[in-house]
Amino acid sequence: MTKVFLLILDGLSDKPSDELAGQTPLEAAYTPHLDTLAAQGINGLLDPIGPGIPLRSETSHFILFGYPLEDFPGRALCEARYSADLTFNDGDVLCSTNFASVIREEDYFKVVEREIKLNEEEMIDLSKEIAEYEEGHISIQYTYIGQTSKVNRGYGIIKVSGEEVSDQITDSDPFYNNMPVIEIEPIEKNMEMEKARITSRALNSYLRWVYGKLSEHSINLKRKSRGLAPVNFLLTLWASRRTPIEPFHDRYGMKAISIIGDHPVLNGLARELGMDDEEFHCLKKKEEIEKHYRTLFEKLNEYLEAYDFIHINARDPDLAAHTKSPTRKKEVLEAIDNALEVLIEKIIPHQELLVTITGDHGAPSVGDLLHCGESVPILMVGKRILTDGVKQFNERAAVHGGLGRIFGKDYMNIVLNFTERINMYGLRLTPRISPTCPGKMKRLTCRV
Ligand SMILES: [Zn+2]
Repeated sequence: MTKVFLLILDGLSDKPSDELAGQTPLEAAYTPHLDTLAAQGINGLLDPIGPGIPLRSETSHFILFGYPLEDFPGRALCEARYSADLTFNDGDVLCSTNFASVIREEDYFKVVEREIKLNEEEMIDLSKEIAEYEEGHISIQYTYIGQTSKVNRGYGIIKVSGEEVSDQITDSDPFYNNMPVIEIEPIEKNMEMEKARITSRALNSYLRWVYGKLSEHSINLKRKSRGLAPVNFLLTLWASRRTPIEPFHDRYGMKAISIIGDHPVLNGLARELGMDDEEFHCLKKKEEIEKHYRTLFEKLNEYLEAYDFIHINARDPDLAAHTKSPTRKKEVLEAIDNALEVLIEKIIPHQELLVTITGDHGAPSVGDLLHCGESVPILMVGKRILTDGVKQFNERAAVHGGLGRIFGKDYMNIVLNFTERINMYGLRLTPRISPTCPGKMKRLTCRV
């Protein structure tokens, strides 16, 4: 059966900039290989959830993999899945945290630095001081996982356990400096208000206790004597609790792997969906990026021996956009495009393969936004797919593509259709009505 290769160019779409004479980085980039694939396939624009709404990578990937956003397991849970040091039970509530520096202002805490990082040894020392806390029937455990995160902040996970816990609570992290730390409260109109109240109360007490413990820690006393900001608080966000999710393989009958560039939360998500996962580091120089992706694409034939669905997340365009340099993003896209020569010459001719290249969200290299709600271009190339006359891969050209404008939730259905796995709508082949039923139909036995 036709296999699937999905390449996500993270943060692909962008805004036009003066620096690139009114073009987006993807438009301005010289991308002969992406253009060849656009010409060989069908094109369009994709809104991960809806026009104008910027998503984070993990939620966008979840939707692209065909799951409803209401079932998203939560970012903290994905981060926890990434860390080998952390174990948790299904009912536990997990919160992402980062070390912060706060000052007391009248009767509240004001955030001075939202994310503050010391060396690993000091981080671990501080972590030990705040690792265990109990309030009533609730126990709170803090695990520092900064050393395994391989990304830019010393983050950790708070695990809240007990019968009376709920993830229906607000963040304490205001997300910007010079703002007050937010009191954790139950989310309005949730279905477990009392549990949410108990969890909020316990977490608020814990955070006050953390402030006291860390403020008096010798590391902070030393920092104070040297005029440095104390590392005296934990800011919490993205409370999560596991909900049952149908594994990707059971849902689609495809054995899948996610190969992720410096984006641990996506590794965690893949694990939660029962996909295999690998990771790699994003590189800085254009030549290094090209070389790395060449090597990775060379390995696709090997991956295709073992898997039916291969997903690569290339974080590089998103990271380039965050430097707010349209030229840098253009160069990164050109480097990846150069490497796509391997896909076109060495992989596609030898495989029965559906190739999709798209993005998970927009990431503007100009302006103030971190992610933006511009639609991302999408191309799909494979056997018996109608081409549409689009000859370039970019935001402007994709407007004229045969896929039109699709939502993230449509993507897997289109994949199932193009790979001839889709069921005709309305058939009831299994108790859970599904767009495909990979070997799950129950046979009627001859004997009672
Ligand atoms: Zn980003």
